[in-house]
Order: sequence, then C-alpha cells, then structure tokens
Amino acid sequence: MLRVSGLTAGYGTIKVLKGLDFNIEAGEAVTMIGGNGAGKTTTLKAITGLVRATGGEIEFLGHRIERMPPHNIRKLGIAMVQEGRQIFPLLSTEKNLRLGAYIDNCAEKEMRKRIDGIYELFPRLKERHAQLGGTLSGGEQQMLAIGRAMMAKSKLLLMDEPSMGLAPIMVKEIFRVIREIIGRGVTVLLVEQNARQALKIASRAYVLQTGSLVAEISGDNLHDDDLIRRSYLGAI
Ligand code: ATP
Repeated sequence: MLRVSGLTAGYGTIKVLKGLDFNIEAGEAVTMIGGNGAGKTTTLKAITGLVRATGGEIEFLGHRIERMPPHNIRKLGIAMVQEGRQIFPLLSTEKNLRLGAYIDNCAEKEMRKRIDGIYELFPRLKERHAQLGGTLSGGEQQMLAIGRAMMAKSKLLLMDEPSMGLAPIMVKEIFRVIREIIGRGVTVLLVEQNARQALKIASRAYVLQTGSLVAEISGDNLHDDDLIRRSYLGAI
C-alpha cells in the first residue's frame, strides 16, 4: 500500500530524515517507535505532505505522492491524527466530527451514518455530542481527534502518539479503539513512544533513531523486551 524509499526531509538547513526505506501492506498495523526527536512526527508529516521530502520516493497505491499537496494526498485516502489533537475548541463534539468529512462533501444521510459509526466506536463521544471540544478531557479530545480523522473514507490512518499525556486507564481505552479500527480493516501506521503498548497491537515495528531506521521487528521478536531495548540503544 505504501512504499517509502530513500526518504530525506527536514526543516530548512536541519536534516532530520536521513534516507528511510520502509513499506506497509494493506491491512497491516505497523508501529514506528523511537525516542524524543528521532524523526517520527517528521516521517508522518512527510507522508501527508505537510513537510516536503527533499529526496527519495513515497508511493501510495501506485501513486507517487512525495510532491503532492496535502489535500490531494488526503483525497487519495491517507488520514492523520496529529500529535496534540488539534480539535476545534469552540465547536461542539459533533461539529468537530462533521468537519472531518468535509473533503468527501457527503449528503446528510451519509454524514449521519458516519457520525453514528464513530459514536459506536466511542460511546463517550455520543454522550458528549453537544459539549464544546475545548471543554472535553484530554482523553475525550484524543477520541475526538481519532473520530474526526475517521470521518472521511480513509485507507491508511497515521497516528502520532495517541497515548501521549493520558492517564493509564485512558491509554488502555485508546489502544482498545485502535485495535477495533484495525479490526475494521483500516491500515494503520502508529507512531509511539509507548513502545510496550504499541507492540501489543502491531504486526511489525520499525525502530527509528536520529533520522535512520535501525531495526525492523516482527513475529515473536515483538515481545522480546531485550531486543527492543537494544534496538532503542542502537546496539543491534
Ligand atoms: P517526539 O517523540 O519527541 O515527538 P519525534 O521522533 O516525533 O519526537 P520530530 O518531531 O520528527 O521527532 O523531530 C525531529 C527533529 O526535528 C527534532 O530534532 C526537532 O527539534 C526537529 N524539528 C521538528 N519540527 C521542527 C521545525 N518546525 N523546525 C525545526 N526543527 C524541527
């Protein structure tokens, strides 16, 4: 579904990604783990066109996207839940959800169906449908950010540290939902510092360190804490 090769990107003169090669097959749940500043967010932003690739190729469903504007990439079916949630604080929960589908320009009946689908996934959002986004708790805002990203028909969902800053019980709830989203057939690339949780739901993991992928972990190795620790430390 997604093939990234030799990807380089950065900010002005700062080179962050130093030539990444990775791929994601349809239906997979892949996680990218790595410490602070490794370049995880930059990788997701390069895929969605928010940061321009300075070199390499990104191919999604046969389309070269590394030079496409973000809204065209979105239309091809890549959605992103950004770090920090970025919901609209002065709009209600339901209006935030509606905005997620604007790109599809769908009729009210279809809109209602999609909103109800999100409420099924997050009963808490249904309870809070009229509440202003800015007054929701951190965990509820994260649910809303995920729900909004899912409102438009997406084939690949990119998630940037969805568990960040949440209480343990909310982290559990968010990962339950991510598991359910994967179960619905959405392909997921999950960026996380919470490696332990991410590895529980992923079929494959890439370890990113200062802009380079240093390891790919799959199968039984996903539960090998020692291997993961060593790959974090750059010792493999
Ligand atoms: P974290 O887990 O801490 O969010 P990350 O792996 O997502 O980290 P990035 O946010 O991709 O890392 O940042 C990679 C590097 O790029 C960091 O050194 C960061 O300071 C730098 N960086 C990120 N955004 C910008 C920007 N807008 N301008 C300049 N440098 C930036």
